Amino acid sequence: MKYEKIRKQVLDAILEAVDMGLIKGTSGNIAVKDDEEDVVAITPSGIAYKTMKVEDIAIVDMNGKWLDGPYKPSSEAPMHTAVLRARKDMKATVHTHGMYATIMAMYDNDLLPTTPPQAEFAPVKIVPFTMPGSNDLAQKVVDTLGDGRAVLLKNHGMFCCGKDIKSAMAATVYTEEMATTAYYAKLIGIFKPLPEEAIQKMKELIAADQAV
Ligand SMILES: [Zn+2]
Repeated sequence: MKYEKIRKQVLDAILEAVDMGLIKGTSGNIAVKDDEEDVVAITPSGIAYKTMKVEDIAIVDMNGKWLDGPYKPSSEAPMHTAVLRARKDMKATVHTHGMYATIMAMYDNDLLPTTPPQAEFAPVKIVPFTMPGSNDLAQKVVDTLGDGRAVLLKNHGMFCCGKDIKSAMAATVYTEEMATTAYYAKLIGIFKPLPEEAIQKMKELIAADQAV
C-alpha cells in the first residue's frame, strides 16, 4: 500500500479523537502531509471511523485532488490543503466539532488561555461563518490562522495544525480545554485569562524547548 505511514497516522489520530469525545459520527476530519512527497492523507467522507481500515484513508495532492483510496476524501480537503500549502512549517491538520469550541466560537472575541499549557496555542481567533467545504472557508482559515496554531469556526467547530500529528492533536486537545475552562468560568462569572506577560513567557519557554 502506498503512503502507509501517513495513512496510519490519520487513522490512529481519528480513533484517538473519537475516544476522547472530540469527534462524533462522521463529523471532523484529519490530514497528514508526507515528509518527502507533496501528498496528503485525509479521512474519507461519510465513512464510520470506528470500523475504518488504513487503506480506506484517502490520498490527495496539495490542492485536494483525489489521488488514491476507495472512498472520496473529506469535503473539507480544501481547508486542510490550503493551510498545508500556506504553512510549510505544518505537517498535520485537525478539524473537530468539539462542543465547547463550537459554543465559544459564538463569541466575537478571541479565545484566551487560562492555564500555562494552553498558552502555546493562544490567542485563538474566530473565523466568520462561511459555507463548509468551500474555497472561501479555506482562504478565511488561512488568513485568520496567520502564524497561529488554532482557530474557531463560527457555527461550526475548530481547526488546528502542528509540525506533526502529535503536535496538531495537542493543539486540538488544549484548544478544546481552553474553550471548556473559559465556558465554565464565564458561566459562574469568574473568568480570568492568563496574564499577557505570562502567555508570552510560556511561548518563549516552549519555543526554546523545541529549538533544542
Ligand atoms: Zn466540519
